Amino acid sequence: MISTLCVFCGSSMGRQPLYASQAVMLAEYLLTKNIALVYGGANVGLMRVLADTMLAGGGKVVGVMPKSLVEREVAHDGLTEMHIVAGMQERKAMMADLSDAFIALPGAYGTLDEIFEILTWNQLGIIKKPIGLLNVDSFFDPLLRMLDHAVKEKFLRPEHRELLLDGVNIVHLLRDLEQYKPVIAEKWIERLKVGEI
Ligand code: AMP
Repeated sequence: MISTLCVFCGSSMGRQPLYASQAVMLAEYLLTKNIALVYGGANVGLMRVLADTMLAGGGKVVGVMPKSLVEREVAHDGLTEMHIVAGMQERKAMMADLSDAFIALPGAYGTLDEIFEILTWNQLGIIKKPIGLLNVDSFFDPLLRMLDHAVKEKFLRPEHRELLLDGVNIVHLLRDLEQYKPVIAEKWIERLKVGEI
């Protein structure tokens, strides 16, 4: 059961209002399910939209922020809980510890870095927690194509490709994350013969 969800998303609003409205819808759905939110703790972009919608609805919001970003005054000062950590690595580790599952909304380097770190930890068996992309207006299609290409070129095992769920519907994506069964497959494909995967 998912009682705490970590959301990675842009520190910008993006070009279309649809991105913010999907962040609002996600927060509203989490409120109906009484799911707590863990996120990066900022008061900018989609991150802020998500946190403010949760807080306005009486939801629990936990921020995890490196000291350097707090000093740059991008911290949200109204959260239920705020953890200030030394750096970005500690932040990702704490967000992972606190959460049962992960969703990414559209974003840039920060969002992609976070989602790929969580995928890598799952691939290595360090954690076994579900991860999904909310594919708002096909935003993540080029990324999904890239991953399928990596499978085709035998850099990524199909079982590991399946670690990343995606969907356009918030209710269905959350349901898929709830039903997720951890993948058990060895990472070290070098032990196999060339062309075998
Ligand atoms: P980006 O996708 O590059 O906009 O980065 C957003 C993601 O990276 C969020 O999930 C945050 O955890 C982190 N991040 C990037 N920029 C900031 C910021 N200014 N304040 C707080 N967190 C940020």
